[in-house]
Amino acid sequence: MPLYDETLDLLQELIRNACVNDFTPGSGQEVRNADTLARFFADTPRAVLQRFEPEPGRISLIVKVEGTDPDAEPLTFMGHTDVVPVDEAKWSKPAFDAVIEDGILYGRGVVDMLFITATMAAVTRDIARRGGNRATVYFAALADEESRGTLGAKWLSENYPEALSWRNCLSETGGSHLPGRDGSDSVIIYVGEKGAAQRRLHVHGDAGHGSAPYNKDSAIVKIARVAERIAAIRPHISDSDIWSGFIRAFRFDEHTQQALIAGLDPDALRQLGELAGFADAISHLTIAQTVLRAGQAINVLPSHAWLEMDIRTLPGQDQEYVDKLLREALGDLADDVAIEHLISEDATQSPTEHPLYEALADTLREFFPDATVVPMIAPGGSDLRFARRLGGVGYGFAVHAPARTLGHVHGQLHSHDEYLHLEDLKLTVEGYRRVAEKFVC
Ligand SMILES: [Zn+2]
Repeated sequence: MPLYDETLDLLQELIRNACVNDFTPGSGQEVRNADTLARFFADTPRAVLQRFEPEPGRISLIVKVEGTDPDAEPLTFMGHTDVVPVDEAKWSKPAFDAVIEDGILYGRGVVDMLFITATMAAVTRDIARRGGNRATVYFAALADEESRGTLGAKWLSENYPEALSWRNCLSETGGSHLPGRDGSDSVIIYVGEKGAAQRRLHVHGDAGHGSAPYNKDSAIVKIARVAERIAAIRPHISDSDIWSGFIRAFRFDEHTQQALIAGLDPDALRQLGELAGFADAISHLTIAQTVLRAGQAINVLPSHAWLEMDIRTLPGQDQEYVDKLLREALGDLADDVAIEHLISEDATQSPTEHPLYEALADTLREFFPDATVVPMIAPGGSDLRFARRLGGVGYGFAVHAPARTLGHVHGQLHSHDEYLHLEDLKLTVEGYRRVAEKFVC
């Protein structure tokens, strides 16, 4: 059976297995996708399988195809097998039947990221069957990516880092397009992702009876002032080549381009249309105030109030940088505010001067000879950060037809009626095959 058909069959089965991760340890049950994949590799003796199960049913499967040259740089495909929940009422198609209509495949997780995971499996099996690969290839079918890799890549990186090579890794998503105003085409490769710096800010006030507030220090008034000062923070605009390269891809006139790169006018981002929010997110550190708590009974003055914030950092902005930014914004309130760190993980980024990046860029140029390849940073997370933290490189790679813009593909993630043009599956299978040819064969 041709590689593409094998991949499509596998992809449909992975969707139908419905490994829905609702962030509880008992959900996901990626054992179903692990079993499907184990069957997929069953008659492939050169593929050696290992299963890891940190919680019942939360299985990550590692497939290893040994190379002939122990000194050759290995290649690792990191695919996750879990998907996010669906709001069935909002879907016009069944979410887990993997139906195909007019060349489009519908299903939860088809874009994020089962089409890439299925491609990785099929290309790995193809390499194992052909034999003679110089470098060792790993395919990691990882559980729990949607819950920050806690029972998947994170767990493996902390408990069994030797189960796979973290040196040269590929994962989601990449390969979508940025159409320029002059008709030019750019295609993206993800090289990094923003970090997390979740914070809980505590303030204290005077307790007392609600009937006698005279001279009481109000925790609620204080936390409101804190919220206002945080909201006034204007984080500085990235001076990285990634941000300027992203803006240049739109081919605005020189004046508009410079204004956007410098970030002088937040309203100017509107010119990016559906990508305005994405652009804002990758242009600077973002702070979203998301949870506020104070008080219980209406007749009691609360002595404590707190505010939680989802803060996302750019590469180079560490946790100390964030605390300093917050303290400066709080000004004379800073001494009254305790800053608690919740999930805190620095941003990660891999270089564009690297043989693996070059293999990806060359492959994209083979498909789209006139396109500019643009390195990109993701506002959200992927399993690649664990590879980067262990000293490896990680890139988000797929291949989409030119009609699939970054806005379109990004909009599919976690959306209702998530769908994939089968044309993009064909391109991605071919793309991964060519990258493997360049890098491991
Ligand atoms: Zn994903």
